[in-house]
Amino acid sequence: MNAEIIAVGSELLLGQIVNSNAQYISKNLADIGVNVFYHTVAGDNEKRLSSVVKTACSRSNLLIFTGGLGPTKDDLTKETIAKLFNKELVHDEVSLRYITNYFAQTNREMTDNNKKQALVIKDAKVLPNENGMAPGMAFTQDELTCILLPGPPSEMKPMFINYAVPFLLSKMDVQTRLYSRVLKFFGIGESILETKLQDLIEKQTNPTIAPLASEHEVTIRLTAAHTDQEEAKKLLDETESEIVRRTSAYFYGYENDTLEKQTMDTLMKRNATVACAESLTGGLFGRVLTDQPGSSSVFKGGIIAYSNELKRNLLSVPDSLLKNYGAVSEECAEWMAEHIKKIANTDYGISFTGVAGPEQQEEKPAGTVFIGVAGPKQTKVFPLKLAGTRKSIREKTVKHGLYLLNQLVKEDQ
Ligand code: ATP
Repeated sequence: MNAEIIAVGSELLLGQIVNSNAQYISKNLADIGVNVFYHTVAGDNEKRLSSVVKTACSRSNLLIFTGGLGPTKDDLTKETIAKLFNKELVHDEVSLRYITNYFAQTNREMTDNNKKQALVIKDAKVLPNENGMAPGMAFTQDELTCILLPGPPSEMKPMFINYAVPFLLSKMDVQTRLYSRVLKFFGIGESILETKLQDLIEKQTNPTIAPLASEHEVTIRLTAAHTDQEEAKKLLDETESEIVRRTSAYFYGYENDTLEKQTMDTLMKRNATVACAESLTGGLFGRVLTDQPGSSSVFKGGIIAYSNELKRNLLSVPDSLLKNYGAVSEECAEWMAEHIKKIANTDYGISFTGVAGPEQQEEKPAGTVFIGVAGPKQTKVFPLKLAGTRKSIREKTVKHGLYLLNQLVKEDQ
């Protein structure tokens, strides 16, 4: 099936709301192996909606509409479709009873346009609305399947999952299913990762390989199509191991893994503790770690020493070091990491010093960052040159910190 999602509503065209329904439906159609080739938006206007539907019929064989099923005059989706496909609108008794009862129970007057919500396309399958009044509809005519869903996401989502998806599966060859796996990478850009996997990506068939850059990280979605789940898993395993073989330094986990969770797990497994000394990150590292449930067993705390005065007073950074090398230096990062480890009495100390920008500092450009990690065996300092806004430089710094700490703790044991 090749699907087109048609969202109806002038408020979408006016930019008052985002077409999140299309995103939700697309994602869930991908999971059941339905291709979505077009997203279309039409205003509450019969003529333009008709023209959109005619175009959609010429290029897609599954049309999914959201919105315009309400009681008011500008809600005209089902009326327009009924007219185009020469179908009658009839009252659905179950929906009409539900609406009548609702008004009786809430002591409100029911007007004629409320009854309009119970109108459905004759012979269409009625999709119950568990969170509202307007029922959905699904019908097939010749080679074309149409599904009509309400606009509010709270009504559309359960109707789509509970009634529209089973309707679609009953029409499809469900022998072949899609199985996906997401691999997550850090410390490598999307283009370099793609270059390393160029030949695999070029000859991809089953599974498909789709890299995607997101939130300072890169993900790869592998999707295998097979009739047998075990066989699909084998296909995914083979491709995954070839990808990881080429990129092992950057691969850190799967769909639900995060760098903070991985780092916490690594520390927990080794019964190791950590404390942090933060300058440019201003407490962000501590916050990200303490967002993790159970963090108290590995994270002892930290010091935010933003000014040189506090670096001297709280972390005993020597004056001479600050004078000779500056606060944004390898030497300062090393000192801060070792000192916080000592005073917190932890297995690891991690430090962050650098220039978040936009101005330079100590004649060092924005994005100059040093991360120190002091462990039981050695201290390492990692110089970074980061780009972006102040916010993204700080966020990237924290992610690098988590990644480096995780790597070093793993190497140590
Ligand atoms: P109602 O019975 O509430 O009128 P409806 O099916 O007629 O439902 P619309 O009137 O088109 O739906 O939209 C109602 C509300 O649903 C919108 O104001 C908006 O908040 C939400 N909505 C509609 N379409 C979308 C969409 N494509 N994506 C996200 N939200 C939407």
